[in-house]
Amino acid sequence: MVPNHLESPIASTVDQFEAPAEPTWGARREAAIPRGLSNLLPIFVERAENAELWDLEGRRYIDFAAGIAVVNTGHRHPKIVAAAHAQLDRITHACFQVTPYPSYVELAERLNALAPGPTPKKTLLLTTGAEAVENAVKIARAHTRRRGVVAFSGGFHGRTMMALALTGKVVPYKSGFGPFPGDVYHLPFPNERGSVKVEESIQALDNLLHADLDPSEIAAILIEPVQGEGGFNVAPPEFMRALRQVCDEHGIVLIVDEIQTGFARTGRMFATEHSGIEPDLMTLAKGLGGGLPISAVTGKAEIMDAPLPGGLGGTFAGSPVACAAALAVLDVIEEEGLCARANELGMQMRRFLETLRAEPSLSPVIGDVRGIGAMVAMELVEDGDMRRPGVALTMALSPACAERGVVILPCGLYRNVVRFLAPLTISDALLHEGLAIVGDTLRDLVAAA
Ligand code: PMP
Repeated sequence: MVPNHLESPIASTVDQFEAPAEPTWGARREAAIPRGLSNLLPIFVERAENAELWDLEGRRYIDFAAGIAVVNTGHRHPKIVAAAHAQLDRITHACFQVTPYPSYVELAERLNALAPGPTPKKTLLLTTGAEAVENAVKIARAHTRRRGVVAFSGGFHGRTMMALALTGKVVPYKSGFGPFPGDVYHLPFPNERGSVKVEESIQALDNLLHADLDPSEIAAILIEPVQGEGGFNVAPPEFMRALRQVCDEHGIVLIVDEIQTGFARTGRMFATEHSGIEPDLMTLAKGLGGGLPISAVTGKAEIMDAPLPGGLGGTFAGSPVACAAALAVLDVIEEEGLCARANELGMQMRRFLETLRAEPSLSPVIGDVRGIGAMVAMELVEDGDMRRPGVALTMALSPACAERGVVILPCGLYRNVVRFLAPLTISDALLHEGLAIVGDTLRDLVAAA
């Protein structure tokens, strides 16, 4: 990037003798980091507190992104910070495979007890969401001794090779990175709007079982109960139940990816609970560590025990500091009633967005408002036509909101969905301040178009 003092076509005499300006963080970032890792916003953050961020210049932002659904318990929740601090003072790393420590066991016990369904559970701790997905597939294959894995179009499961193979969106995630591990099949994901009906997805599964792959060769079906990156598409509960039935019938492992939906986000500890089914395995990450990197596979003990001793692990997997934070996260969710709070916040968000949608100037651009609990999205379209994604408006909205002090994230197969993922600890006042800014910004962008 050209230093600022060279950009002016008529530099003053004084300028010519000044030392070159320090390159900005943006320029240094561009020079030092590959473009494949992109930034939504050119904001360098310095600190954060609950639902607010401050940048290097001291500007404050209301955070409706929560680091992509990570700080459900707010930035730097005092109880979580204290637990991590206390652990830092004792031991930061041992590697559980070498010398175990109690907090890993305690966290596994807590997750086992929280996982839906009566079957005894076991938990493996890891570091990232993608790693949890990789390990869930390994465990399902070891248990079934089968190869095939079925996933869904529009799904997102991470950026490692198997997770990418399972991800149902090409650009930008998969472009140029193949070949991917084989034996992966994608089905259409049904939605409550009815553009893909539950029966159509079930029919597609039935076709797959007859046309492509014998059920006795399928190790697992992997599904997000609400697609996150895919656009906050809620899987209808009857579809989750139908998958449970097919898996039971054929001995297929049902893996539910709760990485974005977990930890009170949807108004229950896990989104699976809305359908009342018991998954065989769940992948967990994001909200679990309250900002520290930790993930998990929690599932039926018999299945979890399939891999041989030594077949699972990771140097940093289940770090003591992250385990301490995660135990505090689970306490905070319970003590502060964050499941109920998620439902309350979701109601307020949906009410606000529906009111916006009713405005004559905005009804042609807000095609849909949807979600569950505090996982809420609005889909932007052109001229009220759901088949014409409002990509340009969605992409303009994030930076325009950031200019006015609110961070929002786009998502969706066509990148035309705005998602609202405020920390569940946000105050009503801050939520409404942020929503009003989003509403005003959208009105101004539409008026200027
Ligand atoms: N699964 C889902 C549903 C996700 O939303 C994500 C991250 N957005 C992942 C997996 C991958 O997690 P990570 O980025 O921690 O690898």
